Amino acid sequence: MEAPRISTVAARCARSRSAMNLAELERHELVAAFEAVDVPAFHGRQVFTWIHARGVTDFSRMTDLARPLRERLAAAFTIDTPGLASQQTSVDGTSKFLLRLHDDRHIESVYIPDTPAQTFCVSTQVGCAMACAFCLTGKMGLVRHLSAGEIAGQVRVLATSTGLAGTTFNIVLMGMGEPLHNYDATMKALRILADEKGLAVHPKRVTLSTVGLVPAIERLANEPVMPNLAISLHATTDAARDALVPLNKRYDLEALIEACRRFPVARRSRITFEYVMLAGVNDTPDDARRLVRLLHGLRAKVNLLPLNEAAGIPFSSPADDRVDAFAAILADRGLTVSVRKSRGRDIRAACGQLIVEGGRKSAGEALAAKIH
Ligand code: SAH
Repeated sequence: MEAPRISTVAARCARSRSAMNLAELERHELVAAFEAVDVPAFHGRQVFTWIHARGVTDFSRMTDLARPLRERLAAAFTIDTPGLASQQTSVDGTSKFLLRLHDDRHIESVYIPDTPAQTFCVSTQVGCAMACAFCLTGKMGLVRHLSAGEIAGQVRVLATSTGLAGTTFNIVLMGMGEPLHNYDATMKALRILADEKGLAVHPKRVTLSTVGLVPAIERLANEPVMPNLAISLHATTDAARDALVPLNKRYDLEALIEACRRFPVARRSRITFEYVMLAGVNDTPDDARRLVRLLHGLRAKVNLLPLNEAAGIPFSSPADDRVDAFAAILADRGLTVSVRKSRGRDIRAACGQLIVEGGRKSAGEALAAKIH
């Protein structure tokens, strides 16, 4: 179905007196929405910059617009922004933000300083449908997709609260949710974030992590601008991966690796393969050798993530020497490998530990209590 024209949407909003939310619009759409109500295009560009570059969403503070225009805009439009429900900072400087959405759903986003870049880890869904066996978010199931404005809004809120708006930072789509399961909103959010009149985050500073939705990877391969790709691989045989990542039953390892081979990796860039290490499950020297064979000929790097353990997750993390031995086998055979230092564990902000439920931020604990 074709997206309705902005002018039609604006007219419909005007008739029904429901205000149109400008946070959902790319710059050209915002300009069109203004023109539809006879506001000149250049004001659309100004408002886009206020929202996205300066983080100002209150029309009365948009000081380069005449007061009557500000009042007119405030009557006709809204600018939704996720509200800050709470913020926790880890001993290592990582900050986890609990954000409240307009329907009282909550999501988590994380600021990871100095890795060496400043990085924002953002969510693409409330919950997740993928149900990976070791992931707390997966236990929630999918509550709903986030809109483009909500995905971009997380970055806006985090960049504004950390004072990093206007500087260079990275974005990883590694919070709650599976970005390729919410494809259109995710891509639209990346276009809003990339706009040079907004936060101007170049797509090469963005990494999209996916569990392996093969048709969506193929679609991504044809986008005019593409983020970096990370694949949550986690296993080297279909039997093992079926048990850890249920989606593997639909798109098996062969299909996934083939899609990666066809993916147009940018010059001097590579696909990252994430591999959660689970003691006694996928951490043997045989696994390491199979991983080398699987990735043979691909422009790949491997990121080993020793499991972040949590109550309710029926796995444990291997001992350090086991992780090192696994990494050494990959490195000896010429693969670039890194071991992810877990950040923000003390505040449950680490990978796979983001979980909120019904607005209670202690849902992880509630879950743990249920299980024990
Ligand atoms: N759905 C996407 C985005 C989530 S990214 C994906 O799966 O890629 C979060 C990363 O953390 C994924 O690689 C995920 O597999 C990993 N992860 C999930 N639970 C984890 C845990 N308990 N410990 C370490 N990593 C975990």
